[in-house]
Amino acid sequence: MSTPIAPVEQKRKVITAIPGPKSTQIIARRAAAVSASLGMSMPAVIERAAGGILVDVDGNHIIDLGAGIAVVNVGNSAPHVVENVQRQVAEFTHTCFMVAPYLGYIEVCEALNRLTPGKFAKKSVLLNSGAEALENAVKIARSFTKRQAIVVFEHGYHGRTNLTMGMTAKNMPYKDSFGPFTPEIYRMPMAYPYRWEGGAAACEKDALDVVIHKMDKEIGGKNIAAIVIEPIQGEGGFIIPPKGFMPGLAKYAKDNGALFIADEVQTGFARTGQMFASEDENLEPDLITTAKGIAGGLPLAAVTGRADVMDSIHASGLGGTYGGSPVACAAALGAIKTIEEDKLVDRAKKIGAIMSDELYKMKAKHSIIGEVRGRGAMQAIELVIPGGTEPNTAALGKIVKYCQEKGVLILTAGTYSNVIRLIPPLVIPEDLLREGLSILDEAITAVLNESLVSA
Ligand SMILES: *Cc1c(COP(=O)(O)O)cnc(C)c1O
Repeated sequence: MSTPIAPVEQKRKVITAIPGPKSTQIIARRAAAVSASLGMSMPAVIERAAGGILVDVDGNHIIDLGAGIAVVNVGNSAPHVVENVQRQVAEFTHTCFMVAPYLGYIEVCEALNRLTPGKFAKKSVLLNSGAEALENAVKIARSFTKRQAIVVFEHGYHGRTNLTMGMTAKNMPYKDSFGPFTPEIYRMPMAYPYRWEGGAAACEKDALDVVIHKMDKEIGGKNIAAIVIEPIQGEGGFIIPPKGFMPGLAKYAKDNGALFIADEVQTGFARTGQMFASEDENLEPDLITTAKGIAGGLPLAAVTGRADVMDSIHASGLGGTYGGSPVACAAALGAIKTIEEDKLVDRAKKIGAIMSDELYKMKAKHSIIGEVRGRGAMQAIELVIPGGTEPNTAALGKIVKYCQEKGVLILTAGTYSNVIRLIPPLVIPEDLLREGLSILDEAITAVLNESLVSA
């Protein structure tokens, strides 16, 4: 059907400067043709990718510690994904599921209903992006509860559409000048152990009470349609609330007739060493939003949850032209098959342990690392001015740039833009992962030696 292409050699190779001459030319065309509003983490134009490697147009082989922002958990062009997509695209490309249905959409919903936590009857609806999943989860919660207030959290990220911008915490770059935002979104303090006043122990003891008090006094429990939270905050800097915080919120929602919605767009699909991060504290969210890791790189998203809630919406109330496209569904079935067959949940635990070990070794050496945190293959370091907790944004950019020049792609995060997050494809070979981590260590050492950290 298609011409076979050579496998991508799983080896780091830096043969030109990055960007090399070909990338530089194409990036100039990008600047002329593409809106300047779009960011670019890595100035290398990619031509091929697989496993733990991205190959650029100049032939550089770059170690991928970002997975396209936790999307290609199964790796780029994973064989089951390629096979399913090629077959589907040759069979038919679009009918619109609401015009004439097809099996793939139904099978993805069946898989989601089976895989998501919650021992109750579930149903799903498919959309195109994470933000669209959040939009729909809010529509469903408001319609089901006949209430309007939506509770979100500091440092939370839920997307860039108008509603989800309002739900997202960070102003720059996501919200600045783009308002007004929608009403009835209430932002609560986040249980952020590293930055909680009084430290992690105080956070564990007090955070839930603080949030519950605010919800009671400032919103009123009976007005809340839903509490929406990421089990581990992604863009916010891989913030993990203390044990008990999430179950406490879920209980408050239940006691007050509100829905508890877990935004698992970034944490889902084996990333954290569970199929979904909610499983870690035996949470059974009423609704779960998913996207990123769902379809091996094709655009797909979902809301999955309690059947009584999902079925409470009036006929034709939800939908969209492309949501659950047959090609994206075929990809999702290939990705899910890969996660299950290749035991990527276990693999996430394994590479998570390697990353965490190496990061703790770095923390012991470099006082610029304020905290190491993460779960499974979702690990981060928070950079500070040594001796305190003041965010070290200046060092972050320099460390990232050093890694890029050596052919290692790492991503950043955090409200204070001082977090390095590692979210490699779960199929990355162990030697590449270790090499990437040792270059990160080298980068921190180099930046410290330039004594730029106190800048
Ligand atoms: C990325 C992300 C979104 C938005 O997803 P898009 O597909 O970019 O719209 C929502 N929530 C979380 C937790 C995310 O990480």
